[in-house]
Amino acid sequence: MYGINHAAIALAVGLPIAIKTGNLETGTIAALTIGSLLPDIDTPYSLIGRKTRGVSDAINLAAGHRGFTHWLVGAGTAIIAAFIFCIVADLNIIWAVAFTIGYLLHLLTDSFSKSGIDWLKPFKNKTYRFGGNLSYRVGGLAERIIGSIAMLTIIIIVGINLTTTGAFEKFILNIVDKSIKFIGT
Ligand SMILES: [Zn+2]
Repeated sequence: MYGINHAAIALAVGLPIAIKTGNLETGTIAALTIGSLLPDIDTPYSLIGRKTRGVSDAINLAAGHRGFTHWLVGAGTAIIAAFIFCIVADLNIIWAVAFTIGYLLHLLTDSFSKSGIDWLKPFKNKTYRFGGNLSYRVGGLAERIIGSIAMLTIIIIVGINLTTTGAFEKFILNIVDKSIKFIGT
């Protein structure tokens, strides 16, 4: 699945949770998005891999695409690192939670692709494909439809919250406020 669709799905799922729990802020959204893109740092052709050439080339060489970063062990390592990072750097722990949701949604949606995921490697050499005949081909029509639905969902969520709860107004005003303070200092 393309990075843009991974990010769209993570936001379509994560935004309502962030709004409902009062955690709609730049850090949460950034962590969610990074988590949803990070597993594909194992290929220089992905959205995140293109921005991290060198690192993505090295990981691709060492582990291959859909290798370690797509295993449960790799996910666990990244998630634990995110929590430690938030604790050590004294950042909002919710950001690590958002990162976790993004990362796991990436693996889950990759599992529905025709190539599937080796969830339990190195303990079990089995490729898991969910969805049977409903599995999608990377870059195919089904993926584009899923991505479009996710993007539409985001637009609807933003639209509803702009007109009713005002969650996004607060979110945007908060960013403007922080920017002004940042420029002022
Ligand atoms: Zn992936």
